[in-house]
Amino acid sequence: MSDTLSLRDPEVYKAVLGETLRQADHLELIASENYVSEAVLEAQGSVLTNKYAEGYPGKRYYGGCEWVDVAERLAIERAKQLFGAEHANVQPHSGTQANIAMYLSVIAPGDTVMALSLDHGGHLSHGHPLNFSGKYFKIVPMTVRRDDELIDYDEAERLAQERRPKMIFAGASNYSRIFDWKRLKECADKVGAYFAADIAHYAGMIAVGVYPSPVGLADFTTTTTHKTLRGPRGGMILCKAAHAAAVDKINFPGTQGGPLMHVIAAKAVCFGEALKPEFKEYQRKTLENARHLAKALAGLGYRIVSGGTDCHLFSLDLRPKNTTGKEAEAALDKAGITVNKNAIPFDPQKPFIASGVRIGTPAVTTRGMALAEMDQIAQWIDDSIAHKGDEGYLKSVAEKVKGLCRRFPVYPKLVKEMENGKA
Ligand SMILES: *Cc1c(COP(=O)(O)O)cnc(C)c1O
Repeated sequence: MSDTLSLRDPEVYKAVLGETLRQADHLELIASENYVSEAVLEAQGSVLTNKYAEGYPGKRYYGGCEWVDVAERLAIERAKQLFGAEHANVQPHSGTQANIAMYLSVIAPGDTVMALSLDHGGHLSHGHPLNFSGKYFKIVPMTVRRDDELIDYDEAERLAQERRPKMIFAGASNYSRIFDWKRLKECADKVGAYFAADIAHYAGMIAVGVYPSPVGLADFTTTTTHKTLRGPRGGMILCKAAHAAAVDKINFPGTQGGPLMHVIAAKAVCFGEALKPEFKEYQRKTLENARHLAKALAGLGYRIVSGGTDCHLFSLDLRPKNTTGKEAEAALDKAGITVNKNAIPFDPQKPFIASGVRIGTPAVTTRGMALAEMDQIAQWIDDSIAHKGDEGYLKSVAEKVKGLCRRFPVYPKLVKEMENGKA
């Protein structure tokens, strides 16, 4: 058992090595990604992966659960404290799994749900026709207005009155402005609908009050734990005490089997980190960096969707530069800058081409980068897009990117060990 991955399975090791170095030497601007702490990595890589623990702490279907119970209870208590929630289920394997269980805890296939349209910033699991949510539920899309690209609450209210959804589901993967949770809750109350919020993207900011929280208002709040919250890849459901039993039952045995106890332990570590004062400082800086980067790019002639941001992300409209999202993503990739192409509201391009890229600052802020680095990054983004066909030029940017990244190291110990092993 003592031989390490590099000796046991050099092929897989090579992939892990390559990815470790890629993360170290590239600028990660994908808004849904982050770098977890070494403590989170250690918990997630622990022997808790060996344990079956169907059920919940104190009520398991397997023996030997005394230590995983400790880990899950810590995760639950910390999650409740962090978000001021009455109940937390920390078992969903992902954000989508959390949404599956949340929906089915109170509504059934054939029911009507109102949620933000994918092409206006929503998520696949909020009713996309290719996703279970769009197949099982009748979806009434919420949209943004054409002029200011903000959510059209008047239209949402009109549609809710007309279509009487059983649930109004707020939240987004690509909406940079503040959600008016209160207005949507009032709208839900008027039509007798459940109100749910998906804070997958904003969770870290919400935990520390940098972005408004829906937790006191919503019947259900779902989230991922791996985006701004900076924990292991996974999901979670927060809810009112009245829904606790239904949520727990639909998660297990309703839609999942055994929980991933190593991931739940890592969630507990992440929530513990998020309860520390430094985490608030981190979220504040992430917001400041996002605002600064958006402003710098606007200064270079790009259009920012909705004109700015109130969180960790924003969308760049590339049409003023006669570039598509697909082209920009490819050019930036060669320059060592990782982004994802994204539709902008009312996008004339097909989703696979898209007119925009989504940009987020959680990962670069974790590395310690600040305003001066945001100015530099904006300049590199613009230079790379301007030279999108010039491989040599993009390679020269990638070298400069690597230089900056090495000044703001991630996992320095791991990288050093791996580089020594390689030599
Ligand atoms: C990322 C995201 C999810 C899903 O997360 P997965 O863990 O990838 O399933 C759900 N909802 C929203 C709004 C998201 O942004």
